[in-house]
Amino acid sequence: MELETLAPRVSLYSASQPEKGNRSPDHRALRNDEFWKSLPGYAGINSDEFQTHIFQTRNSVTNVRQLRDTLKDRVPESFYEDVVEGIKHAPMALRISPYLLGLIDWDEPYLDPIRTQFLPVASQQLPNHPELRLDSLHEQKDSPVPGLIHRYPDKALFLPIDSCPVYCRFCTRSYAIGSDTDTVEKLKLSARAQRWDNTFTYIASRPELEDIVISGGDTYNLKPEHIQMIGERLLRMPNIRRIRYATKGLAVLPQKIITDHAWLDALTRVVELGRQMHKDVVVHTHFNHPNEITTVTERAMGKMTERGITVRCQTVLQRGVNDNSETMQLLVRRLSYINIHPYYVYFHDMVPGVEDLRTSLEAGLNIEKHVRGHTAGFNTPSFVVDTMGGGGKRDAHSFEHYDRETGIAVYTSPSVKPGVKFLYFDPLSTLDKTQQVRWQIPDERRLMIDTALNSTGGW
Ligand SMILES: *Cc1c(COP(=O)(O)O)cnc(C)c1O
Ligand code: SF4
Repeated sequence: MELETLAPRVSLYSASQPEKGNRSPDHRALRNDEFWKSLPGYAGINSDEFQTHIFQTRNSVTNVRQLRDTLKDRVPESFYEDVVEGIKHAPMALRISPYLLGLIDWDEPYLDPIRTQFLPVASQQLPNHPELRLDSLHEQKDSPVPGLIHRYPDKALFLPIDSCPVYCRFCTRSYAIGSDTDTVEKLKLSARAQRWDNTFTYIASRPELEDIVISGGDTYNLKPEHIQMIGERLLRMPNIRRIRYATKGLAVLPQKIITDHAWLDALTRVVELGRQMHKDVVVHTHFNHPNEITTVTERAMGKMTERGITVRCQTVLQRGVNDNSETMQLLVRRLSYINIHPYYVYFHDMVPGVEDLRTSLEAGLNIEKHVRGHTAGFNTPSFVVDTMGGGGKRDAHSFEHYDRETGIAVYTSPSVKPGVKFLYFDPLSTLDKTQQVRWQIPDERRLMIDTALNSTGGW
């Protein structure tokens, strides 16, 4: 009580208020117009046709020829050339739904957060950080059977399929997901019952496993009978208590939840079986920007809520997409509004070909400060770094050492890999010129990393 009366505390509060705090856009103002009609290729498509999963799937754009057919003269020729060049260095194949294409602001494609995530442009690409690697999380090392990653004691990640409804430029699993590109020949994890059988045998043989993430790829691309078969097989194992279906679908093709009755019914049957068995079945999804949430998403989430299906969101922090406090606050409020729980914000993994999308640890930690306290604690995501080399997810604040000059952070992970130190690197473009030069000299690089590994504290 006494503290409340102290005047300085009041002024401290006002000093730390975000400047634009009161002018933030309305999280309830969801887009409800026929936005796709401004694209030449979709001008004649009415809502009944556009808002179906069949239209969306059949008309997804997978190459520059189709992009041209859709956008025609909506963008200058130089934009198409930029995408053609961008694809040559991209680790992921191209695939984007008409819905997402329609939500992009084609007057400013270079600044648009959805374009940034799905269409590579050579003019924005940056050289890779010297320390980054394909499969930087060492997922293949932690795979006892192909397509199952068992890194943590009681939970594992099952990858039944290697395709997705869209392909994100920044996918962590660019070593396996989607078709081959000019730069990456993929590990193939196709949907095959024989491979799944080996996975089920392993999961059943490990009594410590209680929690299975069914991911990929994307479970949206599993047939309804496979959704049900995989769910039932897992739920019937006595050791398994929790399963999660991971899909980006709600963010990129929400129409499927509304018009693909067989798929949603199969998921619902697994959720209901789980409920009867007193086990937990939920969906994890992946939104990165408030523009990805429209009244179609709201309707899709309405169906999920009616069926009692819990949905959580994992977001990836990306430069030019969501790397400012206002955008992240709006995303969190908008997700909460339609009953999606913001669960994680991941710092961008150290994967090749997308260095333009990474942020510094400092920038992300600052955003976290502005998000926490903005809404309910259970709707406040944890900001995590999934450490290179397989240390697993760490609370971004929990570094042992962080040097903003060299951009090196050091983490430990005593419950996953005791006694090992794990590194995360700020993008070179966020460092001083002198530090950027040091990173180009192999001996200096070694010295900077060794110094970081041997120090504690810092920042
Ligand atoms: C992220 C992840 C999980 C699930 O972790 P949670 O923190 O419980 O969401 C499980 N296995 C692997 C390999 C993962 O990367
Ligand atoms: S939906 Fe997920 S698995 Fe598929 S490309 Fe995007 S990030 Fe990768």
